[in-house]
Amino acid sequence: MAQLKQETYNKTVVLVGAGMTNLQVITQAKKFHALQTQLVLLDVNSFWFFSGMAAEVLSGYYGLKDFHLDLRLLAKQYGIEFVQDEVTALLPQQKKVMTASGRMLEFDLVSFACGTISAMPEGDVPAEGSFPVKPLKNVLQIRNEIETCMELFPKKILELLVLGAGPAGVEYAINIADLLEERRPAPGWKITLLEAQSKVLPGFPKKAVIIAEKMLKASAVTIRTKSEIQHVQSNRIVLDYGETLEFDLAVVAMGNRVIDLFMQAGLETNENGALVVEPSLRAQNYAEIFAGGDCAQLKGASFSQSTQNVRQQGPVLVKNLLATLQSKPLQEVSGSKCPVQFVSLGKANALVIKGNTVLEGKWVRTLKQCWDRRILKRYRTYLT
Ligand SMILES: Cc1cc2nc3c(=O)[nH]c(=O)nc-3n(C[C@H](O)[C@H](O)[C@H](O)COP(=O)(O)OP(=O)(O)OC[C@H]3O[C@@H](n4cnc5c(N)ncnc54)[C@H](O)[C@@H]3O)c2cc1C
Repeated sequence: MAQLKQETYNKTVVLVGAGMTNLQVITQAKKFHALQTQLVLLDVNSFWFFSGMAAEVLSGYYGLKDFHLDLRLLAKQYGIEFVQDEVTALLPQQKKVMTASGRMLEFDLVSFACGTISAMPEGDVPAEGSFPVKPLKNVLQIRNEIETCMELFPKKILELLVLGAGPAGVEYAINIADLLEERRPAPGWKITLLEAQSKVLPGFPKKAVIIAEKMLKASAVTIRTKSEIQHVQSNRIVLDYGETLEFDLAVVAMGNRVIDLFMQAGLETNENGALVVEPSLRAQNYAEIFAGGDCAQLKGASFSQSTQNVRQQGPVLVKNLLATLQSKPLQEVSGSKCPVQFVSLGKANALVIKGNTVLEGKWVRTLKQCWDRRILKRYRTYLT
């Protein structure tokens, strides 16, 4: 833990979750220290993993070292306190957060960047053989399980299911196919991508849907649309019309939700559980509570989970936390109404989507990889 000169601090800003908005606060720690304010980072993991790279960890393109940040090192570098613990409750009136290990942390200001968790039909404990996309570190376990199965059962046809064909499901299905294709010639495996709606990438432009379906088929991924999953049980799923499908491994990519933190604290949330915040990223009626990234919903804006939007919020969050400490006026997030979104389509292709514009190709994949590496490099540079 960092050597804190606690005697010089008379205020505490607690950062819940090392999401991107809070990472930007950490890199500005000096400005907080100058105001006699200490920063305390609380995260359930000692590493932060970058979602943009997760799918290509499956194909083997990225290794562990490429897609994570060591939070302990980051905290040490900036002279802030790091506490590895899960925040389980917020007490807004008392200005405290409670953790799974029973700690109670007092704050003058608190900033939430705790992202989302996977939405699962059977509650929060995954059934045997199934792995939710979130937490992102699961990607390492998914890869490990697949490799172990290949080694232990060389003659078995591996049955893999990807549940949900949003961008995460599509990315995971194609990248797992790439891994298997390289390691185990067909027909040693079968991947089925299931989706409740009538097409993959629901809500995306038609061109993106057509390209994704073409790439999935080329990767030998079977697509089953209009297949609503009712139950995910131990090594089998049950569809709405009663059909069951057995699996050796299933990836649950059926959407994300925010932990029940804000609703339980009596704060206003959207249907996903995200805290409704003003354009300043401050909670309504609570001047001490801020939130950014996927766990926050900007009042009056459409809900959008994208790295690009999150990165735009970071600098405003830093300014507004500092402004609140000095009783100065707050700034507002301008917000990108239409963020750029990349979707990895394996070794041969990727999509970039902005509004109705869709581009594809190997060059898009290269662009995505440069973009993702640049994001992590930015934080790594601070670590050296
Ligand atoms: C598989 C996948 C691929 C994606 N690909 C892209 C992409 O290519 N481009 C794009 O723009 N967006 C992509 N997204 C969306 C993108 O991940 C998010 O919009 C962005 O990462 C939001 O980050 P965040 O800062 O809100 O939180 P995160 O980066 O998710 O960080 C949340 C942090 O909070 C911690 N935490 C969680 N709960 C608690 C708790 N109770 N107590 C303490 N700590 C906690 C976590 O350990 C984590 O460190 C993808 C998402 C997924 C799931």
